Order: sequence, then C-alpha cells, then structure tokens
Amino acid sequence: MASQLKDLSKLCLHTMTTRPWNIEECIRNYAAAGIPAITIWRNVIEKKNLKEIRKQLEESNLEVVSLCRGGFFPSVNREKRQIAVDDNLLAIEQASALGAPLIVLVCGADGEQSLFKSREQIIQGILRVIPDAEREGIKLAIEPLHPMYAGDRSAVNTIRQANEMAEIINSPVVGVAVDVYHLWWDPDLESEINRCAANHHLFAFHVCDWKVPTLDFLNDRGLMGEGCIDIPRIRSWIENTGFNGYNEVEIFSDIYWKTDQSAYLEKIKQSYLTKT
Ligand code: ZN
Repeated sequence: MASQLKDLSKLCLHTMTTRPWNIEECIRNYAAAGIPAITIWRNVIEKKNLKEIRKQLEESNLEVVSLCRGGFFPSVNREKRQIAVDDNLLAIEQASALGAPLIVLVCGADGEQSLFKSREQIIQGILRVIPDAEREGIKLAIEPLHPMYAGDRSAVNTIRQANEMAEIINSPVVGVAVDVYHLWWDPDLESEINRCAANHHLFAFHVCDWKVPTLDFLNDRGLMGEGCIDIPRIRSWIENTGFNGYNEVEIFSDIYWKTDQSAYLEKIKQSYLTKT
C-alpha cells in the first residue's frame, strides 16, 4: 500500500474543480494556497489574452500540467469531423501559447454509429493532428472514460483500449491519461497501468472519488475519501511504475460548486494529504 502523501508538492488542481472561479482567480488562489501546479480547462481561457495568462502563471510559479480538453473526433458527419480536427489544432496552439506540455483527449463517440466506427475515427483524428503536436512539442493523452459515457462522450472506455490505441498509433507524443473515476472498477487496472508505463505511454494521473449513490453521472464526483475508490492503492500502482508526475485533482461537483470555493480549496488539500 502507498504511504500517505507528505506534502503538496505533487498536487495539481484542474480549474474545472473550482468552476466558479475565472482563470485569474484560479491562478491567484491556487498559488496562495501553496498548490504548485494547474491543469487548465479551455472554458476559462475563452476570449482571454493567452500571453497575459502565461505571464500570470509564471509570476505565480504555477506549473501548467495540461490543457483540457481536445478530442471529440467521431461523427457520422464529415464536416463535423473536420471541425473537430480544426478544434484540436486550435487546442495545440493554445497549449503552446500557455506553455502546457500536454493536451488531454476526451475522445468522443457518436450514438448514431457503432463504437467500432467511432474508434476508427478517433485514430484517424489523432493521426491528423500529430504533425502539429510534434512541431509544437505538445503531447496528447487518450483518457479512457467510464463505459456509462460510451454513447456520447468516449468510445474508449478501458485502459486496455487506450493502451491498444496508443500502441497502434505508435507516436512518442501519444499516450494515456489514467483517471481513477473512470477506471477504478477494472479488474485489469494494475496490469494495464504497468503495460502503459512500460510502453512510455503513462502521461497523466487524475483523482477524485466515486460516490455511492452517485446522483448525477457527470457532476456528482466526490472529494477523495468520500466514495468507494481505493485511491492510495491505485496511486501506489502508478508510482511503482516510476511515474513521477502530478496527482491531478479533477472533481466535477454541482454540490461543491455551490459552496465557498476558498473553504473548498482547504478541504481539497486535507483530502489530498489524508485520503489520496
Ligand atoms: Zn480526468
């Protein structure tokens, strides 16, 4: 079993976790709370001057871990597939402007076609954006999502599928993001984490908890320790591979978004230190 985390040095917070805050508030408040790293969701940089944001990030000593999110490649409609590719190219430009080394891909699915077709289109979509990602030095992480999202959000639902996809694509810039919320139930999780790392594809590690009962399949994620995921055990598997990246706290919660975000930030730190 993993020992408790000793300090906040490996804590990264996703801006979506504190959704009521704009990017300036996230930067200021995370830095003031002693959080060393940030993953930026694209909603908070819409219509923003990215140079200015980057300056604020640098002045606050916040390391940018990734930009969330690209993907959503599949569609029965050819034009929509092109729009998705263009949007991913834009995400690569944004990541480059912000100094983010990685883009997390929520790969997408279209309920009007089979999962097999959607997976083919995901691979085709990723292949089309790889040259730009390589040129800009940006990595792309395929994030498998829980099977409850297979109809509309992601046709990649297990870490094994993500591993296989990264192996087929076979590019040094394409790997996998492991999120405990999506993968905790998988009996093959430990062995597939090892496979992922052995192929140099383990790019990111996201944490939160699975509440029982879960009231909303999108926005009722729990703080670490509030649910049934053995997060320390999964973190130990990740760390046993030699992974040296951040533990990224990514919580979508209608409940917490309605509370005072500064008090919530303190709760996150406590739960990170004692339950992650
Ligand atoms: Zn995630």
